[in-house]
Amino acid sequence: MAELIWLNGEIVPMSEARISVEDRGFQFADGVYEVIRLYGGRPFTLIEHLQRLEKSAAGIELAVPLARMQLKSEIERFLKQAGAFEGMIYLQLTRGHAPRNHLFPPSTGGTLLFYARPLEALAAVEQTPAAKLMTVADERWKRCWVKSIALLPNVLAKNAAVAAGADEAAFVDEGNVTECAASNFFAVTAGKLVTHPVGPKVLPGITRAVLLECAKELGIPVEERPMRIEQAQQADEIFITSTTREISPISHWDGRPVGRSRAVTQRLHQALRERVAAETR
Ligand code: PMP
Repeated sequence: MAELIWLNGEIVPMSEARISVEDRGFQFADGVYEVIRLYGGRPFTLIEHLQRLEKSAAGIELAVPLARMQLKSEIERFLKQAGAFEGMIYLQLTRGHAPRNHLFPPSTGGTLLFYARPLEALAAVEQTPAAKLMTVADERWKRCWVKSIALLPNVLAKNAAVAAGADEAAFVDEGNVTECAASNFFAVTAGKLVTHPVGPKVLPGITRAVLLECAKELGIPVEERPMRIEQAQQADEIFITSTTREISPISHWDGRPVGRSRAVTQRLHQALRERVAAETR
């Protein structure tokens, strides 16, 4: 079946979709996005992702052209046509096309699109492969709570990490670990789960939010606070979270082994899996 895309209300083959050269997403990275994981074709935490999309859009003075429930049913309509599979939805909203000018154009209606892409099914919790981190200076803007398509610092950081034999870049700002290039950062120390507060320096990850709820249910104490890199590297457990990877334990950081255990990481991961199963069965 031809690969499909939903573009401004129409479902068309990907190969026929056209976007203007003067789309502000292309010329200014003037847009926001979401990634939603599909489990057997069903989206997990779709509403939470659409809520964050609205917040990100408002953060750049843009409105989502469809009401939340309307957009949800358009995504569901699209998924029926696209066929059920293991994968993700990529959704992007830009300020639309207009003659190039830094100033916002009079309302363009925006460019809204989404499509699905397959992903490999995730391993059992105990078999989840560990990842390696490399430290990169956090040189991003101070509105990291906006899920902006302007991802160049993240792209450069992740490429530097992979070029050095790691898997993901850990951003460090004034000595504190904020988050990673495409994931949130967690450490377990003295039985407590520690993660940087969301806001100017950290994206409010949906997986992060679900995990904090799981921690509460499991009675694992949580501290949302900045953590010095030296402390983080000494933590009992280190892991990262994102929609596509769920949870990855961290085994190495800047070439050195880190983490003594995976007990809390795996309890949390199991709790996340139960939520996924309940919501996508
Ligand atoms: N931080 C950054 C910078 C990210 O790009 C991502 C992945 N989109 C995350 C955190 C994790 O967010 P989520 O759990 O919503 O995928």
